[in-house]
Amino acid sequence: MSLFPIFVKLEGRPVLVAGAGTIGESKIASLLAAGASVTVVAPRATAPIARWASEGKVRWHERAFEAADLDAMALVVAAVPADVADHVYREARSRGVLCNSVDDPEHCDFYYGAVVNRGDLQIAISTNGQSPALAQRLRQELEHQFGPEYGDWLKRLGDARREMFAIEMDPEFRRERLHEIASAKAFQQFASDSRQTQTPPVEKGVVYLIGAGPGDPELLTLKALRILGQADVVLHDDLLTPEILELIPASARVECVGKRHGERQMTQEEINRRLRSYALGGETVVRLKGGDGAIFGRASEEMDALRAAQIRFTIIPGVTAASGAAAAAGVSLTDRRLGSALVFLTAQRCKGNPPPNWKAVAALGGAAAIYMPGGHEADLSRQLIEAGLPRETPCVVVAKATRPGEQVIETTLGELPNVPALPAPALLLVAVLPVTSEWGHRQHKNTGKLAKDH
Ligand code: SAH
Repeated sequence: MSLFPIFVKLEGRPVLVAGAGTIGESKIASLLAAGASVTVVAPRATAPIARWASEGKVRWHERAFEAADLDAMALVVAAVPADVADHVYREARSRGVLCNSVDDPEHCDFYYGAVVNRGDLQIAISTNGQSPALAQRLRQELEHQFGPEYGDWLKRLGDARREMFAIEMDPEFRRERLHEIASAKAFQQFASDSRQTQTPPVEKGVVYLIGAGPGDPELLTLKALRILGQADVVLHDDLLTPEILELIPASARVECVGKRHGERQMTQEEINRRLRSYALGGETVVRLKGGDGAIFGRASEEMDALRAAQIRFTIIPGVTAASGAAAAAGVSLTDRRLGSALVFLTAQRCKGNPPPNWKAVAALGGAAAIYMPGGHEADLSRQLIEAGLPRETPCVVVAKATRPGEQVIETTLGELPNVPALPAPALLLVAVLPVTSEWGHRQHKNTGKLAKDH
C-alpha cells in the first residue's frame, strides 16, 4: 500500500511520546520545533528531557505508559522496547490516534521522513521503510543541490506572491509571473546577487578551528579572515603574529592560551574547558593556531573534547610552517627528479612516545621538514648521520618564515650543530636523498643544497 504524504500543522496540538531515552530525545526535539504540546511518559529520562520538563517545555509523567495517556492525543511516538511498543500501538489504533514506533515499521501508522530543511522549504523523503539508508543518501544529495540560500529565496518568492495577490492583475499574467520568478534562471540570478552582497554568516555555538599560517597575514585563507571577522571570542596560541591579531574585531574577546611572559602554559584541559563553555554559551568561538592547526597543533585533543560534548566544530586548514619555510628558503619541498616523499617530523615528543624511526627517515628518498628543532640540532644531526645520511646532506634552517626578521641559513647535517641559534620559531628542512642511488650521490656532491628555484 502506498503512503499518503502530508505535512501536518502540529502547533499547539497534544502529542504523546512514550520513552525518554536518547532516541525519544531527538523525536521530542523535532516535535517541539514544530510547536507541538508534548507529554512524555517514561519512568526515567535523559538529562536534557528532564531539563525540558523542569523548564516547562514538556510535561513528563515519571512512570510507565498507560492506555489513558492517549486520551485526546493527536499523535503518539513510541520510543520504547518492542513489547511496550506493541501495547502502545494497539491502544492507539483502537482510539484512532496515529502512532510511530521508532525503528519498528510493523507498529507504525506514519513515518518520520528524511527531511531537507531550508526555512519554509521542506523536502521530505520516504522509502516506505524499504531503505532508510537510501533515504539518507537522497537527503544528502538534495541538501547539496538545494543549499541554505533556497530558504531565503523562498521567503522572497512568498513576499512577491503576496504582493501580486494584493493588487489587481490579470490572473493569467500573474500565473506566468509566478512561474517566471520561481524558474531556475531566476534562482541563479538571486544566488549570484546574494553572493555579491552578503558575507555568509557564521554560526553561533560552533567552534572554528582555524590555521592562521606561518605569520604573514596575507597567508591567512579568505575563509579564516571572514570567520575571524565575525568571532565573539578568539583563543589563540603564542605563534600568532601581532599583524594577524590586529585582524580580530575589537568587539571580540581575545585570550592568549599559549605561554605568556614566563607564566605557565595553560593546560590543554583548561583550553578544552573554555572552548566548551564559550560554545555552549552560544558564542562563535575561534581557536586560532599558527600554521595548520592539524599539524603538531594538538587539534585532535580539542576535537575529541568538542565531540564528547557534542559541540559542532569546523576545521579551516592553514598554510603550514614547512610551506612557509620552503617559500622563504626558495626551495621546493618535493622534487620528482630527486625523490617521491616528504615527511613532517617534530623534534619534540610527548613523554613516553618512542623516538621517530630515524633509519626509515634516512631511507625515505625525499625531504624532511622538522618542526621545533630549537635546542635539538646536535641530536638531530647525530641521529640522522647514525641512521645513514651523509654529513654533507643539505639542510636549511629557516627562522621566522614569512615574518619580519626572517632568516635562512643553508648548511649541511654535519655542520648543523655549529649553526648559531636562531630566533624562534624556526624549522629545519633536510634533503633526504636516496644516497644508495647513483644520482643521489651526485646530487649531494654537486649541489650541496636543497633543490632551488625549480
Ligand atoms: N601547527 C603549526 C606548527 C606548530 S609547532 C604549523 O602547521 O605550522 C610549532 C613549530 O612550528 C615551531 O617550533 C616551528 O618549528 C614551526 N613554525 C611555526 N611558524 C613558523 C615560522 N613562521 N617559521 C619557522 N617555523 C615556524
